[in-house]
Amino acid sequence: MVCDLVYDLHCHSNASDGTLSPLQLVDAAVAKGVQLLALTDHDTVAGVKQLYASEHTLRDIQLVPGVEFTCKFEKQVLHVVALGLDIHSERLAKHLTLLDQLRFERAERIAYKLTKKKLPDVLPAVLKRVDGGQIARPHFAKVLCDLGIVRSQGEAFDKYLGKGKVGDVSVEWPELESLLSLINACGGVSVLAHPTKYRLKINKVRKLLACFKALGGDAVEISYPGITPEQQAIIKYEALEHGLFVSAGSDFHDPEYKWTELGRFPQVPEGVPHILTKIYN
Ligand code: AMP
Ligand code: MN
Ligand code: MN
Ligand code: MN
Repeated sequence: MVCDLVYDLHCHSNASDGTLSPLQLVDAAVAKGVQLLALTDHDTVAGVKQLYASEHTLRDIQLVPGVEFTCKFEKQVLHVVALGLDIHSERLAKHLTLLDQLRFERAERIAYKLTKKKLPDVLPAVLKRVDGGQIARPHFAKVLCDLGIVRSQGEAFDKYLGKGKVGDVSVEWPELESLLSLINACGGVSVLAHPTKYRLKINKVRKLLACFKALGGDAVEISYPGITPEQQAIIKYEALEHGLFVSAGSDFHDPEYKWTELGRFPQVPEGVPHILTKIYN
């Protein structure tokens, strides 16, 4: 059975806010014994395309094409991991172009807002760090560290970039419903990422799972760093209640972040259908 493989269905490369290149990421995953990997960068498939262009990669590991999409549902920003989608779809390309624009315009606004707080204009340094990849708030956090304005990325989020702070500018992200229909049209499956990390009360999380399924969603992440056994029990209950599959991944970004390791996450509870069984049915 495919779930007996060592796998990881959620991680990032420097095509978005991770630090390893896609090829370095695969090497690191192979070194950790990972046999099946989905690279799921934020709002880009550039890294996945690099991997598919590398014969070396395809020999060493089984790849699942992926994206972690940003969207919104009832004013809440959500992350949806799409797995197994056609990365050459024209409709997908159009959607990703829109996301590029939204992210670039947001970056300009974040940089401007920071200057209003008497910080230097960090946009040039941020773009240098992004180096052609998808721009995300961690790039700002790293530049604020580089400049000695904060001591850690956590502090950058706490003071400038996190919820309610000056760099938390609002964006008209695509609606969840249209995103789910896009993923479906591209032949992919949709996974609601890290449901306990949106700072929602647990009853809201339960409601969200019902809505996610009703709008055409396929699965929910049940295992990722930080989720507790109690939270997993609730996600399992709701997944069974609504007929959602479950998924798991490390959300790895950087070997320096000691709380994540490729292929590592809490054990997936028994008795609930795994998304890999749907992908490989
Ligand atoms: P963005 O998609 O550009 O809004 O950036 C979101 C990313 O920022 C997440 O995927 C995390 O990698 C990172 N992030 C979010 N909150 C924090 C935080 N409090 N501390 C460090 N990194 C964070
Ligand atoms: Mn991230
Ligand atoms: Mn996420
Ligand atoms: Mn992620």
